[in-house]
Amino acid sequence: MESSGAHTRDWTAADVEPVSCCICQGPGEPVYDVPPFAVVRCPRCRLSFVSPRLRAHALQEVYDDVGYFEGRVYAAERSPGTVLQRIWTSGRLGLLRSSLGRAEVGARLLEVGCGYGRFLAAARERGYDVTGVELSRSASRHARDVLNLPVHQGQLGGARLDRRFDVIAAWDTLEHVPDPVAFLRAARTLLEDDGVLVFSTPYISSLPARLLRTRWWTLKPTEHIWHFTPRSHQLVFARAGLVVTRILRNPLSVANFGRLDSLVGVARRLPDDP
Ligand SMILES: [Zn+2]
Repeated sequence: MESSGAHTRDWTAADVEPVSCCICQGPGEPVYDVPPFAVVRCPRCRLSFVSPRLRAHALQEVYDDVGYFEGRVYAAERSPGTVLQRIWTSGRLGLLRSSLGRAEVGARLLEVGCGYGRFLAAARERGYDVTGVELSRSASRHARDVLNLPVHQGQLGGARLDRRFDVIAAWDTLEHVPDPVAFLRAARTLLEDDGVLVFSTPYISSLPARLLRTRWWTLKPTEHIWHFTPRSHQLVFARAGLVVTRILRNPLSVANFGRLDSLVGVARRLPDDP
């Protein structure tokens, strides 16, 4: 689905700023020019990212626009997008059950970037004790007021969560956050020692990304500001004290159904440094 409805105005050079690689702290080298943005790649670790990218205030505008989620997670009940969401939710809950070293009932689950709360509501039905964090004011309000879910509005770092979780889920979120290493470090401090972090992201080494280049439908340089590969996932997670233990790339696996350019992963904590 195209989300350009969320872009209520044309972005100019005043809305963007250059950023550095979240692993190496250095500038990237040009890959694609998509003015006023550019996709660059770090010459040291090969992580791809958008620089210049939207400044924080402009990003908040994008996520607060009610149109951002329409045609995505909050489409009509029987739209193809909603049917896919249900398939992914069921596959992802299955993946979680098999990755979790304990019963689902009572397990504490935090979803970061929970949108309107559909995955959280499904997890609650399985017996998880759920909490959400969502940047969008409109989506987080819906999750709280309509689905009665405990959802904090804002970035993960600002959510003031006072307990640890058995599961942290970040579906299609890591590519959106200002700094993935900082995000994953914050997630790690919230994860129980034997907890699991489950995630999905697009990946830029996928066939559609490589074939379509700037026409890749998931490039979206306003929102997708980090572009991973299975290798750069490992680097970013390792920098945050986590290790990716499983990757599902098959578009026939239920957790990733129909997605040619995205993957689903499971990560765990590395032990604390002595
Ligand atoms: Zn780098």
